[in-house]
Amino acid sequence: MGKKLLVIGEVRDGALRNVSFEAVAAARKINEDGEVVAALFGEGNLEQLGNEMIYYGADRAVVVQHENLKNYTSEGYAQAAMAVIEDENPEGIIMGHTAQGKDLTPKIASRLESGLISDATDIEVDGDDVVFTRPIYSGKAFEKKVVTEGLLFATIRPNNIAPLDRDDTRSGEVAVKDVEIKDLRTVIKDIIRKTTEGVDLSEAKVIVAGGRGVKSADGFKPLEELAEVLGGAVGASRGACDAGYCDYSLQIGQTGKVVTPDLYIACGISGAIQHLAGMSNSKVIVAINKDPEANIFNVADYGIVGDLFEVVPKLTEEIKKLKE
Ligand code: FAD
Repeated sequence: MGKKLLVIGEVRDGALRNVSFEAVAAARKINEDGEVVAALFGEGNLEQLGNEMIYYGADRAVVVQHENLKNYTSEGYAQAAMAVIEDENPEGIIMGHTAQGKDLTPKIASRLESGLISDATDIEVDGDDVVFTRPIYSGKAFEKKVVTEGLLFATIRPNNIAPLDRDDTRSGEVAVKDVEIKDLRTVIKDIIRKTTEGVDLSEAKVIVAGGRGVKSADGFKPLEELAEVLGGAVGASRGACDAGYCDYSLQIGQTGKVVTPDLYIACGISGAIQHLAGMSNSKVIVAINKDPEANIFNVADYGIVGDLFEVVPKLTEEIKKLKE
């Protein structure tokens, strides 16, 4: 393609989120012969993170460091992004379809009077066309989109486009750009995280999710143990959240998070259409349910008909043995 693409990476707690590297891989795929410039925003020294973006495939990086960028606000980050975009004048912009990406990219698109292809799960290059695949109707169908004019602006769904291998022999310029981040109408004073530490649900490769069948907050314990041995995260259906067994931050589905892990283990979840909307594109789905007629079995690659309180601890035990 031979153009210049800008990748907006995401910094959280001083580290880059994996989706930043996936966005670089997406840009590289689109723009094999062109330039891929990474942009990072935050507080403190981001230069090393700029280098990380280069190790994963960017040609160079621009970082905007400002105390008002310590926590994400759409106004602050939009000011930083617009300053970099004005300087670089890229032909395309790629960012992760995360909470931050979903908030920031429409704001930038409207300021640039550009279109935006959101939530791309695949990208193919067909001659001069870049074909984006994205889910529609809550994941029941996929559409393919091509940008015919203007900016090639897209967000990519985490866990769908593999990052390139890290190559720390790669080098490139990391420029620090001064931008005055001012007149913010929103100031974040403090962040109280509801989710426990551990693997981030939207980027997890393995998710063990519980539904109303888990029956209580304590019922999530065996699921947490299984998630831990698999190095994964715990998720939930809205049924489990509504029942007060877990926090809404764990909810997966149409009105919760959309996830695409390599392995999704649904425990005591019936498989309502609104739940499937958030997980049916997982690579391998295992369902554990005592009702053989449960709809979740229609999307599962492997189904276990049984009581989750018997099956889940056995799975954990066997996986522990395999790891020994
Ligand atoms: P249930 O449907 O009650 O299923 C519980 C399952 O557990 C049953 O299949 C049962 O056989 C099984 N079970 C019980 N005990 C055991 C046991 N010991 N061992 C094994 N299996 C057992 N839902 C979401 O999940 N995410 C969303 O984002 C979402 N958004 C919604 C948006 C709207 C507008 C609406 C109307 C609904 C939405 N819902 C969403 C709710 C959705 O319709 C379902 O009500 C919900 O997903 C059901 O949760 P569940 O499968 O945990 O519970």
